[in-house]
Amino acid sequence: EQEVAEYRKSLAIRVSGFDVPRPVKTFEDCGFAPELMRAIAKQGYEKPTTIQCQALPIVLSGRDVIGIAKTGSGKTASFVLPMIVHIMDQPELQKEEGPIGVICAPTRELAHQIFLEAKKFAKAYGIRASAVYGGMSKLDQFKELKAGCEIVVATPGRLIDMLKMKALIMTRATYLVLDEADRMFDLGFEPQIRSIVGQIRPDRQTLLFSATMPRKVEKLAREVLSDPIRVTVGEVGT
Ligand code: ADP
Ligand code: MG
Repeated sequence: EQEVAEYRKSLAIRVSGFDVPRPVKTFEDCGFAPELMRAIAKQGYEKPTTIQCQALPIVLSGRDVIGIAKTGSGKTASFVLPMIVHIMDQPELQKEEGPIGVICAPTRELAHQIFLEAKKFAKAYGIRASAVYGGMSKLDQFKELKAGCEIVVATPGRLIDMLKMKALIMTRATYLVLDEADRMFDLGFEPQIRSIVGQIRPDRQTLLFSATMPRKVEKLAREVLSDPIRVTVGEVGT
């Protein structure tokens, strides 16, 4: 335990919450299957970034996470890699409809980036990902969602539109990510986020990532996450 504490300190990782899994040093430590390890190597990712070292084992253990680290620190793979594992762990993948992993991001550019990152790792398994955001034809998106997918990456407003149009159902959704939560609040998406969260089963795994943690985001996190573990990397303001 002393050694773990010192390792965290050397990486400027702070954690809070009970029973926090120990940080990993390598992707091998995460127990990823060979296909996923190959996809990671293909990206040129040699070892986990600091946030990934601590967030990956926690997310893989099934716990809810609040992850706070600055932009560019590799937060995306912290939730995308465990999402692939989560999806592959579902029994009888083909039987139900609707996404298993739902990721909300504040802007279409960010949603698109996450979508591209998710696709790189999903491809190896034939997992389908869809991106849903404004500026694209609603009819095209409706059709794409109707064709089925395991992962949806969306901006909150457009996802609500698609839910209203019954382009997708959330019965199978068990892995929810709120990425760049602070920016989603700044852009006024709090009501949409609350509506989306309310449409996803409460026994889901919920992950919230943010560069900063203003009080309003803190309040939402307390309400929608269950016994979360908080991981903070470096100096982060509120
Ligand atoms: P954040 O969401 O924290 O702003 P990103 O997830 O967008 O950061 O990652 C920033 C950059 O780092 C991306 O170009 C991504 O491909 C790259 N990256 C992520 N993880 C690793 C890794 N383990 N090794 C090398 N590069 C990585
Ligand atoms: Mg990011």
